[in-house]
Amino acid sequence: MPRDLIASPKSRFLEVKCTGCGNQQTVYSHSARVVKCRVCGAELAKPTGGEAEILGETVAVH
Ligand SMILES: [Zn+2]
Repeated sequence: MPRDLIASPKSRFLEVKCTGCGNQQTVYSHSARVVKCRVCGAELAKPTGGEAEILGETVAVH
């Protein structure tokens, strides 16, 4: 059974640091939409259908 069709219990909130400007903001690990830095607009995460691909630097997990 494909694992990606099952709702993951591992969803969490990540503190992601923008590699462009150093801003840190909270990103949902399974975000279904592109998350952009609120300061410079760089993409911090993008959806993959499951766990979002984090494009910045994860500095903490909540
Ligand atoms: Zn930024």
